[in-house]
Amino acid sequence: MDREAWKIAQQFISYFDEKGFASYIVGGAVRDLLLEREVKDFDVVTKASECEIEALFPKAIRASRRFPIYIVRWDDCLFEVTPFRKGAVTLIEDLSKRDFTMNSLAMDKNGEVIDPLHGLQDLERQRINAHDPEKVFTDDPLRILRAFRFQSEFGYTIEKKTWKAMIQRLTKLQEVAKERIHAEVGKLLLGEFHKTALTHFEEAKVASFLPETMKTSSPSTISTTWYLIRLRSENTRWAAFLLRMYGNEAVAKTSAWRFSNDQKRNVQSILKTVLTYSEEIPWGQYMIYKMGEAALDAEAVHQWLHNKENTNRITDVTHALSQLPIRSKRDMAVDGRDIINHFDFIKKEKIGHLLDCAEKAVVHGIVKNEKTALLKYLKENCEHEK
Ligand code: ATP
Ligand code: MG
Repeated sequence: MDREAWKIAQQFISYFDEKGFASYIVGGAVRDLLLEREVKDFDVVTKASECEIEALFPKAIRASRRFPIYIVRWDDCLFEVTPFRKGAVTLIEDLSKRDFTMNSLAMDKNGEVIDPLHGLQDLERQRINAHDPEKVFTDDPLRILRAFRFQSEFGYTIEKKTWKAMIQRLTKLQEVAKERIHAEVGKLLLGEFHKTALTHFEEAKVASFLPETMKTSSPSTISTTWYLIRLRSENTRWAAFLLRMYGNEAVAKTSAWRFSNDQKRNVQSILKTVLTYSEEIPWGQYMIYKMGEAALDAEAVHQWLHNKENTNRITDVTHALSQLPIRSKRDMAVDGRDIINHFDFIKKEKIGHLLDCAEKAVVHGIVKNEKTALLKYLKENCEHEK
């Protein structure tokens, strides 16, 4: 996010101020600005109440039913606006209810940084520090995973008392909603310093304190490293994580991790392929077609799992993918209607068979993806097959 966005953010909080409600930019945005990191989103806290926010911005969208979080569009920027946290009437009280000191920084309309919990000092010392660790992790045990996540993103160390307090409260992770766990672990996996964070995560046996369905039943027999640099996509990182946690049970365990349907399908497809072949994956045109982009991911994860580095195979799969004449059945030049029109008295169940036949022929390059050529091919080769 650039300077322009910061200017807009300051104008946005000034507008609140003019209306009589002190407001501040808080949390990750201030931290990332100070570290010269890219700012992903702006969080704003305000003295205004829920009703007052709704009155000021009638178009604001309430993002959560449980919590008063509003998404407000202002000058083409999106802001997440919340009244001071529950029970807090001042900014300082609000900040002290946040997770770590580095996330408890605020900025006012003039660009002054407000830092009552000495978050700046911790940023300089590169430490993840909770100002009242026992309370912080008792109030919301998800923060235990957030500590690992920030360690993975920033490469900071976790301050001693903070570490002790979080480790003592691991069992409380079982109370946390699975969606929230999923979101933090997803970010943890993508962090630049994932190796350090995941090593600590494993040493502390965090996985055995997750909700029942997410737990590992027995230590995985898969031994490999947490060095995931070559796994670039989020799905490959998830596949590697699940493999290391659950070994051969990884496919079944995916369901417990609250993926979107789409992501679940992709991650499972990677896992199944990787687990099916102990030697190299025998890629063929049709297999690559069926898996699509997940083929590339599966090859990368397979190499990671077997501790190999073979860029030629990656290049080959990439090339095969780019050469596919079609990406899905929808790209075919014939559909069910064409088949009904072309074949007399065709039975319904035969239509699907003919379409499959055409699909395979196109993918294998036996026939061009053209209507006349395909119908001719089907007449000659597939019509009388069982
Ligand atoms: P990111 O860069 O991933 O957006 P972030 O620090 O902004 O990181 P968010 O999850 O977007 O993290 O939360 C915004 C801010 O809200 C945090 O910086 C922190 O101050 C506060 N916060 C979020 N979740 C919690 C929590 N579970 N407990 C306490 N404070 C939290
Ligand atoms: Mg944020």
